[in-house]
Amino acid sequence: MPQYTQKPCSRKDIRHLTMQLREAFGLERALHFPVVLILDLLHTYFPRFSYRIVEDRELPKDNHAYTDVLNQVIVIKESVYDGACNGKGRDRMTIAHEIGHYLLVRAHGLQLQRDFSKRPMQTYEDPEWQADCFAGELLVPAHLVRGMGIDDVIKKCGVSRDAARVQLSKVGR
Ligand SMILES: [Zn+2]
Repeated sequence: MPQYTQKPCSRKDIRHLTMQLREAFGLERALHFPVVLILDLLHTYFPRFSYRIVEDRELPKDNHAYTDVLNQVIVIKESVYDGACNGKGRDRMTIAHEIGHYLLVRAHGLQLQRDFSKRPMQTYEDPEWQADCFAGELLVPAHLVRGMGIDDVIKKCGVSRDAARVQLSKVGR
């Protein structure tokens, strides 16, 4: 996939986008966000969207999933999909990250950048930063977790301890 930057986007913008997704499916109050179910339902709003589960050996070891934004398909390793179905926090986060890539491109379009030497990429336009931010905001929503302890967040939101810690540090902002 070609490298691309995206329209600069703040955490606040991204939080708003995750709320729009929650509202679209009536999930504003859902602490345990059903990422796998949403994969199945996204096509109701984006008819060209699809996802594909592939055998683990089809992707490199350190690549759990990827989003082909041009063809509107999310490709997920079987073990990651199964893990997410079984509630494994890291795998749920991976799928939320890919949904983030997809929706951020739908919301803001692509800015293909072929020559990165001309200008360094800023954090807020880095698609990876944006997708990570989206995943954290989607699975650990500020409006539901404020005041909650880390163990409650891990259990109720279905995320890893690392993700819960990072996200709890952002909810005040
Ligand atoms: Zn990514």
